[in-house]
Amino acid sequence: MLTTRLPLQVEPYRLAANAERLEGYVSLAGMVRLEEEAGEQKGVCEVRLDFGVDAQGRRFIDGWLRADVDLACRRCLEPLPVNVESRFQLGIVTSDVVAADLPNAYEPVVVENEQLNLLSVLEDELILSLPQVVYHDEAECSVSRDQLTSGTDSESSGTPAASPFDVLRKLKDKQ
Ligand SMILES: [Zn+2]
Repeated sequence: MLTTRLPLQVEPYRLAANAERLEGYVSLAGMVRLEEEAGEQKGVCEVRLDFGVDAQGRRFIDGWLRADVDLACRRCLEPLPVNVESRFQLGIVTSDVVAADLPNAYEPVVVENEQLNLLSVLEDELILSLPQVVYHDEAECSVSRDQLTSGTDSESSGTPAASPFDVLRKLKDKQ
């Protein structure tokens, strides 16, 4: 577990020129868009960022993050801790015009006035890395499969009807 709290604003050009590494954590509770996406969070995001300048003179950030995010289980809607991990390559640019020239390996991050809002960048990466749908293990879920198939909840039936493709496949097998 990393114990250094990262600054929320950094100076990426200076860090890149000195090939510095930032390692530490940020609190998930400060991430407003993540909260909108996934609900209230109590955990932290562990982060490692290597700043540098590539052979073409572009400033980049080679990044890694890991966090336990509480997501709502699709079956019972109770929170479920999900481990999210991501590696990313950011290209530091001064405007959207320069961003268009950046090679595909880099995700552009626009930096104005020498300052980078680190929290916002990490929040973007985290949201992009979230799984779309999560479920508890059946034994741990507060809604069991039996409850779902009893017919009380018509919206989420546990046994989907045979799809038209299954029917077609059967017909094809007979030929
Ligand atoms: Zn559940």
